Amino acid sequence: RNLKKYFEVQKSFFGRSSTLLKAVDDVSFTISKGETFGLVGESGCGKSTIGRTLLKLYEPTGGDILYDGKSISSLKHKEMMPYRKKMQMIFQDPYASLDPRLTIAEIVGDPLVVHNIYQGKDRIDRVKELIELVGLKADHLNRYPHEFSGGQRQRIGIARALAVEPEFIVCDEPISALDVSIQAQVVNMLEELQERFGLTYLFVSHDLSMVRHISHKVGVMYLGSLVEYADVNELYTNMQHPYTRALLSAVPIADPDTAEQSERIHLQGDVPSPMNPPSGCTFRTRCPYAMSKCAEETPKLRDMGNGHMVACHLIE
Ligand code: SF4
Ligand code: MG
Repeated sequence: RNLKKYFEVQKSFFGRSSTLLKAVDDVSFTISKGETFGLVGESGCGKSTIGRTLLKLYEPTGGDILYDGKSISSLKHKEMMPYRKKMQMIFQDPYASLDPRLTIAEIVGDPLVVHNIYQGKDRIDRVKELIELVGLKADHLNRYPHEFSGGQRQRIGIARALAVEPEFIVCDEPISALDVSIQAQVVNMLEELQERFGLTYLFVSHDLSMVRHISHKVGVMYLGSLVEYADVNELYTNMQHPYTRALLSAVPIADPDTAEQSERIHLQGDVPSPMNPPSGCTFRTRCPYAMSKCAEETPKLRDMGNGHMVACHLIE
């Protein structure tokens, strides 16, 4: 609720002055149990920061994080431990996120050590079970990450995330570093695991087709704000925000006869610096519909009915 994550950034190399980068600025949404909430937007819009802040890998600057209705925003290390077990992360880069000096058994078993679950042979059996769960062979356990392909490494990352039987997983661009040919395999596996274990996902991605495929709800972010969100079908067939329309009109449509977008919007210019965002609606410097009101007033999310939320003055 009203989540904020600001970073202090040094203005110049020599200067003592610093400025605030509002990576996430007043964002509210709900992820339902057993569902996937897809978060899309251009790089640097704050989607990964939201994922990391929800898991408290970053301390939130403001707002509240509720897990099963309980506020976890201000929990200290020890009180947070049970939640750390329930909430895991799958990282973007399966090359950087696995320690090259550790064997697969050590990597996948590490969360079991941290949370002190399964001992001795039980721990080894559990690691074998996890490795097989993600489609690898138990005799791979004593090998090192460099002996595996990108897709296999991401499977190892997924096995590690599942080790402590989490309920909620932040998948931060889990397929964007992989070959296109194996992206679908990894996404299908995530879906099967969700079904089997009743997992809840936050799926962060800039791949709009993949997000449509895997998500139940989708949110669109721009410069640290959520500008629109809705159930997946509603969002992709009845998008309202000019930024959402611009993003989605760049995606090829599988069947042009049932084309869902009538109007293409081409974005002008670049995303402004998040250190100095435009006043009012932060999208106004690129929006073909910008009006004087857009510079003066920040549009709030409004419910268009059935939970379809849009932040744009046009909607009023
Ligand atoms: Fe465009 Fe104004 Fe709507 Fe922002 S509020 S998206 S600038 S019309
Ligand atoms: Mg990112």
